Amino acid sequence: MFDAVIVGGGIIGHSISYHLNKSGIHSAVIEKGQSGKKATRAAAGMLGVHTENEAPDLFHHFCLMSRNIYTSLSEELLELTGIDIGLSSFGMYQGALTAQQKEKLLVKEASFSNLKWLEGEQLKSRIPWLTESVIGALYMGEDGHVEPSHVCEAFKRGALLHGGELFEDSTVLDIEQSKDSFNIQIENEILKAGKVIIASGSESGRWFEKTGMQNPIVPTKGECFSVDDGRIGLKETLFFENFYAVPKRDGRLIIGATSKSFDSSAAVTAGGISSLMNNVFAVLPELTEAPLLDYWSGIRPGTVDGRPIIGEHPYLSGIYFATGHYRNGILLAPATGQLMRDIIKEGNNNVYGDLLSPGRLLRKGENMYEPSS
Ligand SMILES: Cc1cc2nc3c(=O)[nH]c(=O)nc-3n(C[C@H](O)[C@H](O)[C@H](O)COP(=O)(O)OP(=O)(O)OC[C@H]3O[C@@H](n4cnc5c(N)ncnc54)[C@H](O)[C@@H]3O)c2cc1C
Repeated sequence: MFDAVIVGGGIIGHSISYHLNKSGIHSAVIEKGQSGKKATRAAAGMLGVHTENEAPDLFHHFCLMSRNIYTSLSEELLELTGIDIGLSSFGMYQGALTAQQKEKLLVKEASFSNLKWLEGEQLKSRIPWLTESVIGALYMGEDGHVEPSHVCEAFKRGALLHGGELFEDSTVLDIEQSKDSFNIQIENEILKAGKVIIASGSESGRWFEKTGMQNPIVPTKGECFSVDDGRIGLKETLFFENFYAVPKRDGRLIIGATSKSFDSSAAVTAGGISSLMNNVFAVLPELTEAPLLDYWSGIRPGTVDGRPIIGEHPYLSGIYFATGHYRNGILLAPATGQLMRDIIKEGNNNVYGDLLSPGRLLRKGENMYEPSS
């Protein structure tokens, strides 16, 4: 019998497994395919603490804590597993193309102590390839990015080295509560565990329904493409309202991402990629000459109120959720793993309270189930 079984082997499931097994809680991940091949593989890997937040509130604190964990985690995982998670600390520019966007970014600059607005000329002296259409950008010097697949693989191997177990190509078909444990049904076997943690990304919805809640998950498709960045040699990430460009250490430049709610289809559409191309070429025309490398899609696990769902089921003891990370699952994986470890070790003592708890979805009533825009 396992202390805990985690349903889903994406970056969230493996981070939880790593943190649980490291602290002596014997856990297994069950993954229906191969680990890290769903939303985790599609992600650009930005640690966008300040692109994702407008003010220093509690959610910003959670994001910041997670980004900061990456610094020590990067060394810890390299030493333990030999995997370099590709942490880049060159920072991000959130750019403005209109006076209205500039106004919003100046308000953001005033809300945080460590962000700096650069006028168009200053920005162009740093990135000469940008067109005059960019009127300035907010520099977020501490927000970098990682290689999502490497992080997931390092968590996976780290958990195994700490005594964890992994079942791949094994779909969880059903979960039943018996006296003081759970029976987890996979194809040809029933596993037993003291606790069950749902970390099934965009496919988590059925487990809310199975346990008497409404489904709060909003699957949100995103498409990306990549080019060889040899010509421009961008160091910092560029983030605009309608595209971002993330330069990876190996010379790939990832351009993302489209966003379509309630779409779980896998197809990469010509329209999606061409809209991204139009947006990025309007700002970085040199990229039209860059060799095209790849294109792909993935399904973000969005939620009805735009926040992740991390904590114990509101009335079923022993069932936990760690899902709904929408477009921040890579950023939030380390803090989610640590938070789940603390919740499981110390009882449901969630300092983030209603911000993240599954119970908030019940208490706020019916309107919570209207999709947020
Ligand atoms: C295009 C795109 C760009 C993104 N960019 C960023 C970014 O720059 N920064 C950032 O922080 N985030 C980003 N994200 C979001 C991030 O990818 C997700 O939030 C994160 O990967 C979610 O991780 P997860 O482990 O919850 O889900 P997943 O990676 O989808 O993993 C869930 C796993 O559960 C498994 N599963 C489902 N049902 C079952 C079952 N019944 N039995 C067994 N296994 C099951 C699935 O096979 C899957 O492997 C991006 C997402 C997309 C799509």
